[in-house]
Amino acid sequence: MVLEFRDEGLYCPAGDFWVDPWRPVDRALVTHGHADHSYAGHRSYMATHAALPVMRHRLGDIRTDGVAFGETRVIGGATVSFHPAGHVPGSAQIRIEVGGEVWVVSGDYKTGPDKLSEPWEPVRCHAFITECTFGLPVFAWESEAELERQVNEWWASCAADGRFAVVGAYSLGKAQRLMTMVDPSIGPILTHGAVENTNAVLRAQGVALPDTVRVTRETDLKANAGGLVIAPPSALAGGWIKKFGNCSTGIASGWMALRGVRRRRAADRGFVISDHADWLGLNDAIAATGAERIFATHGYTSTFHRWLRDKGYDAHVVSTEYGDDQLETEDAEAEDA
Ligand SMILES: [Zn+2]
Ligand SMILES: [Zn+2]
Repeated sequence: MVLEFRDEGLYCPAGDFWVDPWRPVDRALVTHGHADHSYAGHRSYMATHAALPVMRHRLGDIRTDGVAFGETRVIGGATVSFHPAGHVPGSAQIRIEVGGEVWVVSGDYKTGPDKLSEPWEPVRCHAFITECTFGLPVFAWESEAELERQVNEWWASCAADGRFAVVGAYSLGKAQRLMTMVDPSIGPILTHGAVENTNAVLRAQGVALPDTVRVTRETDLKANAGGLVIAPPSALAGGWIKKFGNCSTGIASGWMALRGVRRRRAADRGFVISDHADWLGLNDAIAATGAERIFATHGYTSTFHRWLRDKGYDAHVVSTEYGDDQLETEDAEAEDA
């Protein structure tokens, strides 16, 4: 086995390292900076140059070793390299080769391109360890152009009425992707502090984002009427949103494909926008790897692995502590300005 599935995470005995471990370890190779993949407490972190700034921002003074996409490193008896996962800036699939056998850990990934993240690349392997957050046929994403049209149309109609359009989106990834999707000629883009802090980290590493206005107590909201406000989803439920008066609310999430979730969230609009692969994306990605062994880590693992078995794959479920990208996991209390 190139990787073993242990209580602490995915372990590579040949290289004595871990991939996205959820318990403190000596040497962690990390796919991306989201909290459920990049935990605190490891002695060292290896990740892509583009993923590390956000990890340092979140985790503080950590010992890091940055790699470029495609760069090869030898760790003990293993050769590793990081390849674009198309999920958030810097997010990677990790390729591990031991004695000619190749395993790839997908982390979180999205096969469709956007204007923010390095586009996903298929990596040939014998075994593919895949997420399947949205591993049901009901999850089928629209094209980026159609999603842009939906968001811009909503914002423009709010702006025409002088109302704010307040959209809930993860502060790392989804929020910035929305900024690259919208038409800035419609009006100003305002941001919750948690989003703006991430913007600052990404801008400092060279990610191009449109101009934004951080919402503070001093912000002149009258002067910014009709603006688009981007905040973590949890901020839409609290008192923070009241300052925007009679605004229209939206949520951007793959979960908006489910009618029940849309209704429970009680936002005016649900935009089906995800940083993960949809059903077809997962199936295409798996086919593109050429792998025969598939390990499903998080999401609809039991139904998805049965579907793969029926298709003739040697498929297994692995239990991990990676999150299912639920809307509730986001923490916005830190910056409730
Ligand atoms: Zn993620
Ligand atoms: Zn994940």
